Amino acid sequence: MIVSVLKEAAEEPRVAAIPETVKKLAAKGLTLQVEHGAGERAGFSDAAYEEAGAKMVDRETAISSGDMLLGVQGPDPSQLKGAKKGAYLIGALSPATHPERIGGYAGLGLEALAMEWMPRITRAQSMDILSSQSNLAGYKAVVDAAATYERAFPMMMTAAGTVSPAKVFVMGVGVAGLQAIATAKRLGAQVSATDVRSATKEQIKSLGAKPIFVENVEGIEGEGQGGYAGETSEEYKKAQAELVSGHIAKQDIVITTALIPGRPAPRLISDAQLATMKPGSVIIDLAAEAGGNVEGCVAGETTTVHGVKIVGTVQLARDLAGDAAALFSRNIANFILAFMAEEEGESGGDSARFVLPDDDEIVTGIRLTKDGKIVHERLSG
Ligand code: NAD
Repeated sequence: MIVSVLKEAAEEPRVAAIPETVKKLAAKGLTLQVEHGAGERAGFSDAAYEEAGAKMVDRETAISSGDMLLGVQGPDPSQLKGAKKGAYLIGALSPATHPERIGGYAGLGLEALAMEWMPRITRAQSMDILSSQSNLAGYKAVVDAAATYERAFPMMMTAAGTVSPAKVFVMGVGVAGLQAIATAKRLGAQVSATDVRSATKEQIKSLGAKPIFVENVEGIEGEGQGGYAGETSEEYKKAQAELVSGHIAKQDIVITTALIPGRPAPRLISDAQLATMKPGSVIIDLAAEAGGNVEGCVAGETTTVHGVKIVGTVQLARDLAGDAAALFSRNIANFILAFMAEEEGESGGDSARFVLPDDDEIVTGIRLTKDGKIVHERLSG
């Protein structure tokens, strides 16, 4: 079975397989080929792939001969003409933001597998690209905040007087939020955090930060399915807004990460609340692509509103391309390896089999197309 690693478009520096995962997949009997220059921008040379056992090929060969096509972003179907019928396309295929592509994949006869729809179950943790990339994004958000904020993070006692520690408030304590708290603590900031899921309170405390929570309000629907947040009641939203208003006026840095799957990001900071913040404060909005948690946030831009700098981040993990590619690639390799049928014999080669059982929760969670049809329940009908 031939696995092709595709080179990404100009704006995407990550790659879906690194030499380490090439080696792992090849050891299972898969034949690896990598498009020339695919790993270059993440720091992985063609020579390193060759050393790991891959053959370097041109794009046409990668697409036309691959039984499995690996990408970080899903390519436009027009770029995949000539792909083998029944070949697997594996990557972050953006079924929610690019639904129009899915029919194209079906039309080409590809079996498209969207890694970002990986179910949140223990067995799938090592395959979860959203978690691995969010972790890096949470770290980078704090590093960017520190670079944008024109003051220091830690308390410093100097002969010329004391520098007060920066006050950092993290809103949304999922994977990115937890890493943001940990990073801000390491830099010496005074950190507080909030979420709608009460389970996060202990996690915040365990990182040495202060939990800021709405208490005793009826109708909290914050605990959604699969560990995700749900929509909150109107009463909760009001109580949360009051709590936030009182708190953010005292903050120097706010990092927002709140997301609700399949919906626009919840609005956590209004223009009126921004006006209460100190000029020179910085907000890093990790939900910018989903509409933003902060009023006035523009995805991909830094705007200044009431003297507060609002950074609308887009795919922040990309800025750490080497690590992001390594984690992403391991997620993909873990997924492939989990579905490789055990073959006896040492010959490997063409005897390697990748089998996706129709009744497996992971398969039904991520399979978008098969046999020329769109098969995912969230997409059909
Ligand atoms: P996410 O990216 O979906 O959302 C970020 C955070 O925003 C969440 O904690 C959410 O509760 C919070 N949020 C939503 N609306 C909010 C609001 N109005 N105000 C404040 N906060 C709000 O979340 P995530 O990072 O993917 O993680 C969510 C949970 O799922 C975590 O407990 C994580 O450990 C778990 N998880 C499990 C697996 C697995 O088992 N395979 C994989 C990934 C995540």
